[in-house]
Amino acid sequence: MKPAAFEYHAPASVDEVVRLLSRYGDDAKLLAGGQSLVPMMNLRLARPAVLIDLGRVASLDYIQESDGYVAIGAMTRQRTAELSETVRQHAPLLARTLPLVGHAATRNRGTIGGSIAHADPAAELPAVTVALEADLVVVGPRGRRTCKAEGFFVSYLTTSLGSGEVLVELRLPRATADARSAFREFSRRYGDFAIVGVAAALRIDGGGKCQSARLAVIGVGSRPVRVVSAEGVLAGEILTDGVIREAGEVAAKEVEARGDLHASSHYRRRLTAVLIEQAVTDAIQR
Ligand code: FAD
Repeated sequence: MKPAAFEYHAPASVDEVVRLLSRYGDDAKLLAGGQSLVPMMNLRLARPAVLIDLGRVASLDYIQESDGYVAIGAMTRQRTAELSETVRQHAPLLARTLPLVGHAATRNRGTIGGSIAHADPAAELPAVTVALEADLVVVGPRGRRTCKAEGFFVSYLTTSLGSGEVLVELRLPRATADARSAFREFSRRYGDFAIVGVAAALRIDGGGKCQSARLAVIGVGSRPVRVVSAEGVLAGEILTDGVIREAGEVAAKEVEARGDLHASSHYRRRLTAVLIEQAVTDAIQR
């Protein structure tokens, strides 16, 4: 199928984007890489009367490392971030996760901001932002604001973006020397959305003790879920196989995994336990 008719705008600045969003309100949708929105439009699942293409807003395409964090512009292509030396060095969890997002062809067009704003509950990047306690910078009619990733994801394809607002930047804390991280997922085929996925961000001191743990799980709810009880099993401990296995079992009980045509609730819980074990083990071995 083809999309319903729409009016097209290609602004060159964020100010112009905000003006167009204010003018057209809920009739307008922002177009970034089009890797989610265009298929939805083709299936008539999304029928915006006005499309505002962010593709010409050059000021949204950048990767910068500055005082303690890595700043990534919303229109940065996923592939650009995947191949970035700055991301590889200072945000290794993002670098390790990006190859799991779709295929190289979709990553050439798909953007960092689009994946986050789309808020698919099985998308990997939202889990990375929650595990890393990322900040998201948003601009709208009332100016610029910064919010924590964890509060940004509200529910299925739903974020805390207000009407007339555009996501402009992702800020990831720069990885410290004691940071260890990994992303593990299970999907039917390479490039498919994950059935369950786990982003693990740990801090391990010189004696091998876990100073802090953040575990964000996808595929077990309508947004990325932090398994705080499982994190508590790891924090303060030397991460032996037994401790890691216990954290996986606690997480499997903690998630409210619903069954669907892809996987039963029980299967999602078992996957959660196994993937937490794998992600934490992978992280500490790096
Ligand atoms: P678009 O599709 O252009 O927009 C997505 C939504 O976000 C729209 O509602 C749009 O209005 C909104 N939006 C975009 N940018 C902004 C912004 N700056 N501010 C506010 N709102 C904004 N994704 C995964 O996570 N994992 C996968 O395994 C995966 N597999 C895929 C396989 C295929 C074959 C395809 C086609 C896609 C796959 N995707 C997957 C989705 C892909 O990663 C998309 O790039 C991503 O979900 C959306 O990014 P985009 O830039 O294409 O956004």
